[in-house]
Amino acid sequence: MNVFDLAALRPRLPSPLEPVADERFARHGVRLLLKRDDLIHPDLPGNKWRKLAPNLRAAAGRPVLTFGGAYSNHLRATAAAGRLLGFPTVGVVRGDELAGKPLNASLTACAADGMRLHFVDRATYRRTSEPEVLAELLERIGEREGCWIVPEGGSNALAAQGCTELGRELRGRADVAAVACGTGGTLAGLAAGLGGGARALGFPVLKGGFLGERTSALQMEAFGGPAGDWSLDERFHFGGYARVPPALDAFARDFEARHGLPVERLYVAKMLYGLVALAGEGAFPPGTTVAAVITGRPQSAASR
Ligand SMILES: *Cc1c(COP(=O)(O)O)cnc(C)c1O
Repeated sequence: MNVFDLAALRPRLPSPLEPVADERFARHGVRLLLKRDDLIHPDLPGNKWRKLAPNLRAAAGRPVLTFGGAYSNHLRATAAAGRLLGFPTVGVVRGDELAGKPLNASLTACAADGMRLHFVDRATYRRTSEPEVLAELLERIGEREGCWIVPEGGSNALAAQGCTELGRELRGRADVAAVACGTGGTLAGLAAGLGGGARALGFPVLKGGFLGERTSALQMEAFGGPAGDWSLDERFHFGGYARVPPALDAFARDFEARHGLPVERLYVAKMLYGLVALAGEGAFPPGTTVAAVITGRPQSAASR
């Protein structure tokens, strides 16, 4: 398959936009829509497709080297893209204590898709945004030649530009578009593409309050300055990345029972929880249409 021909993978684009009846919104006069980006592609779901597509076009068949934690959805998606489109992939994984241990299910899938994995100590990993540290690392792991490098989580200028399409698909159909945020690339592009008086609302799933700055920096890189109307609600990280306390799990299970939507816990559940809380606080005026972007789906519901 030709790497330039992502359309041959038959992505479901634009992704479906589905109304759901939920009395927690309806009683405040708010309409809730689900933007089903989780249905875009079985192996490259959600925002990962939108972020990777322009990078793969730019890589043009060169090996793609990228970074992630041991459970990174982005590493999974990159490895799957390499298998489907026939280009080499290299994954730099945070944590050298993982080297030599049995791979977890996520990394096993990466390796099965042909991704070469390199485990890097956390101190070095944290500094790979510094050009000298990166150059030294690539030399050491023998991946110096001609790789297309995609940063952690897949968020660079091209990725943010790729996500403007998500905003355009929602243009005129929602007043508020809500999205869970890891690195901010999806929010940066979504806000830029929305236009028309609509606003994007981001729910960071990591603790630390750094995401506003990150998102602004990405918009600067991708669009030359601030783009669109966006804000963050930092209250719903539930203790930080990959923390899923029982209350959140119960909320997600209840949402699944109400609407038949498989709710991914690390990102999507936190965004939906935040939206329900905001509706309860009366944060959305009656008549508001809120689109919740379903950026992924639970691993167990994945195709393999
Ligand atoms: C990667 C991911 C995100 C975060 O996207 P960013 O662009 O890094 O903010 C959100 N939801 C899901 C399901 C993801 O896999």
